[in-house]
This record gives sequence, C-alpha cells and structure tokens, in this order.
Amino acid sequence: MNKELVYTIIYEYSYIQLYWLTFFYFFALYYGIAPVFNRVCIWLASKGIVYKILKKEATKRQKRIEKIHSLKSIFVFGFSVLPVVYLMRSNSTVLLPDTVLNIVLGILLLTLWNEIHFFLVHRIMHIPFFMKHVHKTHHKSITPTVYSVFSFHWFEALLLSTVPLTILPFVPFSPIAIFLYPLASILLNYSGHCNYRFGKGNGADWKLFGTRHNAHHSTFKKSYGFASHILDKLSNKIRHQWQSKK
Ligand SMILES: [Zn+2]
Ligand SMILES: [Zn+2]
Repeated sequence: MNKELVYTIIYEYSYIQLYWLTFFYFFALYYGIAPVFNRVCIWLASKGIVYKILKKEATKRQKRIEKIHSLKSIFVFGFSVLPVVYLMRSNSTVLLPDTVLNIVLGILLLTLWNEIHFFLVHRIMHIPFFMKHVHKTHHKSITPTVYSVFSFHWFEALLLSTVPLTILPFVPFSPIAIFLYPLASILLNYSGHCNYRFGKGNGADWKLFGTRHNAHHSTFKKSYGFASHILDKLSNKIRHQWQSKK
C-alpha cells in the first residue's frame, strides 16, 4: 500500500470521507468474501478436509435476516474510524513506520487484544438484561453461517468496534496494521461461524477452534472467548477458587 496515500487518508480526508471509506471497506469484506469463504468450505468438505458441524442447515430466511442485521452493523462500524483518526491527528497515539515486521506484529497484537476485548464484551452481553435486549440478535443464528459474523444489535456492534480505539492510546501501531486488522479479524470470524471444522470434534486444541463458537450459538452458554479457550478456563478457575473460599 502506498505510504503517501495512507498519510493523505489519515491527515487530509474529511471525517465524512473517512466514514464512507470505512463503511465500504467493511461492506466489501462482508458481502465480497463471505460467499467465497462458504464455497471454499463446501469444496474442502467434498475433499474430506473439513467436516460440517451441525447437520441442520440454516434457512434462507435466517441468512436474509443475518445480512440485514450485518448491514446495520456495517453502518455502525463506519463510525469506528473517526475517534481513531482523531487520536492520530491530535498526536495522542504513536504511529510506527509501515515495515513488514511492524505490520505483522501489529495485526497479531490487535488479534490478541480482540480476544480479551471480545471475552469481556461477550460476558457482559450474557447478563440477562443485555441478553434479552441486545445479544439475542446474534443468537438468532442457532446454526451459524458465514453471514452471522456481523449479525448484531447496533449496540453490540458499537462495543465490538472499539478494539483498535481501546488499545491505540497505549500501544504504538503502524497505520497499515490497523488498516489490515479488519481483514484478519473477519477471516477469523468466518472460520468461527462457517459451521465447518477440521476433523470430527476431537484432537488438538487448535482443531476445535470453530467448534466452540458454533456450540456457543446453539447452547447459549460456555465458550465466551472466540479463537481461544484460555480466558474461559482462567475465569472458571478464578470462580472455583473464589467459591471454595466462601
Ligand atoms: Zn457468533
Ligand atoms: Zn453469546
């Protein structure tokens, strides 16, 4: 990506231009990649490389509803760029040069931070009030599909869109790492919602990645983390220790 273009976007684009640029970026990531990802899963399944998790197919109606909710979420995601660019313009965050190492490390760090951020937001969403009024939108997808990834109530979409904003004031990143992070994030999200997994539900921990979030969609409990099981294990351990002290 052209360095000059990146700096023109950050320092010279109006906030309205930034909003629409972000809107169309997320729009392309969702409507452009989801069908391709789905086709790749079907092809891999035909070769015996991945396996379907839930046999029950999502209905066409469910997918239509997911696409409508996702469009609303994309409208919300458009706003996420505004405070991020404001931080950059007011020198409240340090920007690193766009070297390959800075880009790769930046995306990895944002993905790690997302795991903690998602766990916290997701735990809050399972408080009965938020479950009833907000998170139930995402759980309408009992059998998740690639189209479930952005299918949120607007308030949940707003909370989830603060991943870069909540770390940028404290950690320096390269602009391209921040720009590419939504692409890495949506690919991870497609893997966790596509209803396919490697193997048949047993084996190495990383192979079970897609299984847990799929199971969470149908059971409504456990597995509040996304890609990893570590924070679930840790919070269970802390809860057990706390209960045994009482
Ligand atoms: Zn989900
Ligand atoms: Zn949930």
